Amino acid sequence: MNKYDLIIVGTGFASSFFLKKYLEKSSSEKKVLVLDRGAFFPYTERLKQRRLEKIADEFTNLVPYYNTYEYDNKVSKEWVFDPNFGGSSNCWTGCTPRFIPNDFKMRSLYGVGQDWPISYDDLEHYYCEVEDIMKIAGPSVTPFPRSKPYLLPPQTLSTIDRLLNDKYGALYISQPTARATVAVDNRGACCTSTVCKLCPVNSKFTIENTLEHLYKDPRVSLKLNTQVFNLIISNNKVNGVVYKNNGREEEAFGEIVALGSNAIFNAHILLSAGDKNYYTGKGLSDQRGTFVNFYFDKLDNLGGSSSITANGYMMYDGNFRKDYAGCIIESFNEPLIRSEAGKWRKIARFKFIFEDLPSDNNRVLPGNDPFKPKLQYEGHHQYVDDAMKKLRQNIDKYFSFLPIEKIEMDNYFQKSEFHICSTTRMGTNMENSVIDKNLIHHTYRNLFVLGSGAFPTITPANPTLTLSALSLMAADKSF
Ligand SMILES: Cc1cc2nc3c(=O)[nH]c(=O)nc-3n(C[C@H](O)[C@H](O)[C@H](O)COP(=O)(O)OP(=O)(O)OC[C@H]3O[C@@H](n4cnc5c(N)ncnc54)[C@H](O)[C@@H]3O)c2cc1C
Repeated sequence: MNKYDLIIVGTGFASSFFLKKYLEKSSSEKKVLVLDRGAFFPYTERLKQRRLEKIADEFTNLVPYYNTYEYDNKVSKEWVFDPNFGGSSNCWTGCTPRFIPNDFKMRSLYGVGQDWPISYDDLEHYYCEVEDIMKIAGPSVTPFPRSKPYLLPPQTLSTIDRLLNDKYGALYISQPTARATVAVDNRGACCTSTVCKLCPVNSKFTIENTLEHLYKDPRVSLKLNTQVFNLIISNNKVNGVVYKNNGREEEAFGEIVALGSNAIFNAHILLSAGDKNYYTGKGLSDQRGTFVNFYFDKLDNLGGSSSITANGYMMYDGNFRKDYAGCIIESFNEPLIRSEAGKWRKIARFKFIFEDLPSDNNRVLPGNDPFKPKLQYEGHHQYVDDAMKKLRQNIDKYFSFLPIEKIEMDNYFQKSEFHICSTTRMGTNMENSVIDKNLIHHTYRNLFVLGSGAFPTITPANPTLTLSALSLMAADKSF
């Protein structure tokens, strides 16, 4: 019989950190099945592809993310991910700031969104654990409390970063990052080539370079090219999953099932299985970013040690969040040169990234094809636009001490921040959410729904460190 103690869907961050903790806590007799829709497309082959060298035939026709769902967008929007072994760890940039304590209580502090059913303190221990596993590089002073230092030394700041750090201290820091600052284990030191999507020196953390061993554990069977599209449910208990492999539909049975197939497919699988929770699929959201170029008349910028060197928190938190979105600032250290003689280095580029408020009108729905969800997206909340209206004024407030010649803003040019959130929100009960504080479905008590779909509110900070910490916490508290 195709029967397991645990079935996990997906091999990205959410699934891998859950699996890691589960294996640590389980006896040697346990049987785990992991199913992923994609292939194991190794780093070495990805590098060859990037260099336009010949790659093995089996990797030439992998399904691209945009063929995995249908669009019903009112506004232009992209939802980007890597549907293969390791998920988007293969292509992420590796920015890993923590959330701050106030992010977990937006409703009680600022009257917007929803409070999380957990606090920052509940997660702090698991933040440390993920940071140690990913070997995060970061500074000693941060705007969020930490119970232990980062393992790797911080990235070197650029000239402009140093000035901002001198002025704003803990509110302007070297960005915590999964791009290793020194060679560690099988990972090279970040080479500052700024092509992080596929790191040429294998510096950034990926599931493949650090956690692949989990999938070779004798307790684990890994089945690739296997798309889960339904659940087998009776009496509110999930008995197993239905999947397609090599064109054939098959079933596997498990005592416990954990969905880690990201916020789009977790919701789609639940909807296909007939989940009636009001919130399932609703709240599809992402942050909204806008690039701003600063031109200086006297200041030469350069010198940081990675692609994104710093995070600014000056506009992240405060009473203003009652009225408009908080924003994290990323300092871009990509090659950017002015063409005017004598002014080549008198430029700096920042991204201002706003939090959004999940809206029920933005959602994952069953599509016409049972294997493809339909994504309905009407746009971000007014909360973001209200913050955008204040941006110029805030830039003047926080940056005017610099010798600025002119400022150029791009007005949300980028269509995605690549962070898919809030389609299976966590909360205290099924009247306000899909899952509980341990990521267990309110109705199906043997079903975990992992990942950033759990976020009741999204924050300005990047989600992956937090969703990985949530997976560790869920497995730790439940087994
Ligand atoms: C270009 C890019 C840059 C990014 N940079 C950052 C960053 O700097 N910092 C940050 O915090 N975040 C970043 N992100 C976001 C980050 O990658 C995601 O938050 C993270 O990957 C989500 O992890 P996950 O495990 O939930 O989902 P994923 O990584 O999407 O993994 C899901 C897994 O499930 C599998 N799967 C999907 N559907 C099914 C199914 N039906 N059946 C079986 N398997 C299935 C997929 O193949 C995949 O392996 C970036 C994303 C992109 C695309």
